[in-house]
Amino acid sequence: MDDVVVDLLGGLRKLWPDREIGDDGWSVCQTLGITHAEFWDRIVQTPNFWADLDFTPQGRALISAVNLRPNTEWWFATSPTGCAVAAEGKYRWVEKHLGKDATSKIVLVQDKWLLARQGAVLIDDRDYNVEAFCQKGGIGIHWPRNWNNARFNSHQPLDYVLNRLEYL
Ligand SMILES: [Mg+2]
Repeated sequence: MDDVVVDLLGGLRKLWPDREIGDDGWSVCQTLGITHAEFWDRIVQTPNFWADLDFTPQGRALISAVNLRPNTEWWFATSPTGCAVAAEGKYRWVEKHLGKDATSKIVLVQDKWLLARQGAVLIDDRDYNVEAFCQKGGIGIHWPRNWNNARFNSHQPLDYVLNRLEYL
């Protein structure tokens, strides 16, 4: 969900507008020179941080494409994060953008490999999640971002994923 469909990185950049948060993913605390506790505190103290995040540029198109695939069911496998209000905020985000019924598609899970099984596909931006999902018998596909092993396709993440799905 985060940084695949939902623009978490963009939201963080709005929280620290005077700081340069690079495109290298989760070195944000290091970049900002703050502790993880300070990082999460700032998010918790920002009303509706999670619910107000934008779509990523191709996030909506990914959902549309998956909806069009025959014989396909899908869910959001998403981390509860280190933030007490993330679960509610993510629920509100889905409700706002995709409707109340879609909230039942939220699976809060840190270890996404728990959902791996034959034929199950995980689309994710984190190398660890993709690799662990494959190791546990699922099909892990990167959503290319500048911080993962599919970074050479980060200018066209949707094309990359649709191409991978086509050849399963
Ligand atoms: Mg993510």
